[in-house]
Amino acid sequence: MTAKIIDGKAIAARVRAQVAEDVAAFGARHGRTPGLATVLVGEDPASAVYVGGKQRACAEVGMTPFDRRLPADASFEQVAELLAELNADEHVSGILLQLPVPAHLDGPTLTGMIDPAKDVDGLTPVNAGLLSLGRPGLRPCTPLGVMELLASVDAQEGGAADQRSASRAPRPSNLAGAEAVVVGRSNLFGKPMAQLLLQDNATVTVCHSRTRDLRAVCARADVLIAAVGRARLIAADFVKPGAIVIDVGMNRLTPEEAGNKSGLVGDVDYDAVAPLASAITPVPGGVGPMTIALLLRNTLQAAEAALAAGAPA
Ligand code: NAP
Repeated sequence: MTAKIIDGKAIAARVRAQVAEDVAAFGARHGRTPGLATVLVGEDPASAVYVGGKQRACAEVGMTPFDRRLPADASFEQVAELLAELNADEHVSGILLQLPVPAHLDGPTLTGMIDPAKDVDGLTPVNAGLLSLGRPGLRPCTPLGVMELLASVDAQEGGAADQRSASRAPRPSNLAGAEAVVVGRSNLFGKPMAQLLLQDNATVTVCHSRTRDLRAVCARADVLIAAVGRARLIAADFVKPGAIVIDVGMNRLTPEEAGNKSGLVGDVDYDAVAPLASAITPVPGGVGPMTIALLLRNTLQAAEAALAAGAPA
């Protein structure tokens, strides 16, 4: 079997193009543009690159970026004050506090101060609770991106008769009843991912560092999603033939160690697993590009919900 390579770059570009179109229509209808505020505390170079990417992407789809920065020694109160100011600003539809914040600050508590209606990262307790209850709300961007990738496999296979034997993974067109295994239980990714899969009626198992016999649990999966942060942890014998494999991990190695120019590898041993899987995401170019695309879509969703709720136009 040769796995279909899920092209996250192309799928993210389609999501972004759709958001741009919808932002233009929003502007024509309401005479304003959605705004996305990013808050960066400190000068961590990787975080600065991420924030820069989000700001650029925001402008590219016609939204208004608000780039707010505080020094590395900013106090909890200063960050809280900035978040309160952005919460009150009617031009700001979405707010993202770039994590991690410097060690002297409490990131989860600060994130919890973002107005849930503007929480485009979907990480406040209110939005996490709404997701858990299966009620509408803003969802975390990377798990949402993974759902888009799974849907794209579905769209490609588009209702064709299932040629696979019963022992192989069912087509993802219907996650209903499929065995989905998520490796990693972070609040940022693993837990919301599991909730989204559950909402689509998958049978979900969440693994972590204390899971006994990770290999055997993973080998049951029709849909295997790895978000661990350990280069190439998921080897060929973790994967059931015909499974869909989504690699969220981003691990930096030297280009020599990684065997590629970027030095970036995932949590899945891609070369060993690709021949077994029915579909697989590469790293880079799989899940990574989806996060910003879904952040933009969430910002538009927040702007539309704010107007529907009667915010000043
Ligand atoms: P995290 O908070 O460090 O969580 C890692 C999870 O992996 C934890 O639940 C941990 O278990 C589990 N784990 C660690 N070692 C394990 C092992 N040997 N076997 C099984 N489980 C193990 O990380 P995260 O924020 O979820 O991110 C995970 C990875 O995804 C990272 O590489 C990150 O860079 C990447 N990521 C990428 C994107 C993107 O946009 N592409 C977005 C988010 C994250 P315990 O809970 O027991 O400690």
